[in-house]
Amino acid sequence: MDIHEYQAKDLLAKFGVPVPAGYAAMSVDEAVAAAGKLPGPLYVVKAQIHAGGRGKGKFKELGPDAKGGVRLARSLDEVRAHAAEMLGNTLVTVQTGPHGKQVNRLYVTDGVDIAKEFYLALLVDRKTGRIAFVASTEGGMNIEDVAHQTPEKIHTFDVDPATGLMPHHGRAVAKALGLTGDLAKQAQTVAAKLYDAFLGTDASQIEINPLAVTEDGKLMVLDAKVGFDSNAMFRHRDLEELRDVTEEDPMELEASKYDLAYIKLDGNIGCMVNGAGLAMATMDIIKLNGAFPANFLDVGGGASKEKVTAAFKIILSDPAVKGILVNIFGGIMRCDIIAEGIVAAAKEVDLKVPLVVRLEGTNVEEGKRILAESGLAIVPANDLGDAARKIVAEVGKVAA
Ligand code: GDP
Ligand code: MG
Repeated sequence: MDIHEYQAKDLLAKFGVPVPAGYAAMSVDEAVAAAGKLPGPLYVVKAQIHAGGRGKGKFKELGPDAKGGVRLARSLDEVRAHAAEMLGNTLVTVQTGPHGKQVNRLYVTDGVDIAKEFYLALLVDRKTGRIAFVASTEGGMNIEDVAHQTPEKIHTFDVDPATGLMPHHGRAVAKALGLTGDLAKQAQTVAAKLYDAFLGTDASQIEINPLAVTEDGKLMVLDAKVGFDSNAMFRHRDLEELRDVTEEDPMELEASKYDLAYIKLDGNIGCMVNGAGLAMATMDIIKLNGAFPANFLDVGGGASKEKVTAAFKIILSDPAVKGILVNIFGGIMRCDIIAEGIVAAAKEVDLKVPLVVRLEGTNVEEGKRILAESGLAIVPANDLGDAARKIVAEVGKVAA
């Protein structure tokens, strides 16, 4: 789960991380009122969308010479003009894809005079299974470019969970950023507070870009991207309120209501599978047969009729889907129950695209009998390879 920059900064501020003062605004008047509460004379008006690269982004509705999604203003009138230009318009950045994202919220912050910009992030390093710091002197710009062109300028070090954060980690962050004296001390403090915030919120990433040194010698978080581990959200009901559903894919949102793990992909074969590993194997084998999956979908261990129906509806709401492959292993759940669920769901959603079903496991014969006697045009498959070949062939027939 991702949140907006203003929410991320409010949260980090609670952990003692230094951020400039600022207020969110949903209208031009609110933006001006927000600026009125700040000391000035420099303000920053920032588009709030769940994507980075806003500064260099372009608004679809405005000309190529118009400013991007992060703008400096030197008066309340300028704040008003920027807010009016940004709100309601579509910002396209390297991270939004060509469709861009509509800007419905702004963040008006106290403008900072920047001396230098750094990059500092905390994430879970999947190789070591530990929380890791990533630090670079090359802040403000796209970190992927830095990683590509000058990988030696990116420093990574992880934290042993048995010891937790130690003073040497903070010193390593300061060193990686080339800081000495008082700024090195500030970097150690910021690193420790970010680590507290990471643990305290079950974050999956905290990315600060830029972490700025101000002209008056202070370290400040000017941009923050924070994401949380969705599996830990039950421990953070307060964080769940920060969710902005307008930023999320509507199908993925619907899936989350039924506790289905769904991710939309670009192909045309809808997949309904129980278990993440089986789902990935199913996607692989579809590709091996020359086609592409339209989604990843894990209905979980107990694939109940309600879940199967919801999953069918979600898959079918994607107009790109030209066929569905159901691949279910009945371990805890019996195949006959699953088959009943599939039949009921297929009838309820008035299925029109070809459906190939591969069932395996407990009571599989009974399950196959239910599918065969359902009167529905379900194509049974015997194993994973058979299922993939059959659905690819069926979809090919539709396309031909
Ligand atoms: P992003 O483009 O989505 O990553 O948005 P950022 O919040 O990182 O802003 C982009 C750039 O705007 C930063 O790298 C800074 O150079 C600049 N910027 C952001 N806040 C301030 C500020 O308070 N003062 C000044 N002078 N520049 C700022
Ligand atoms: Mg940034």
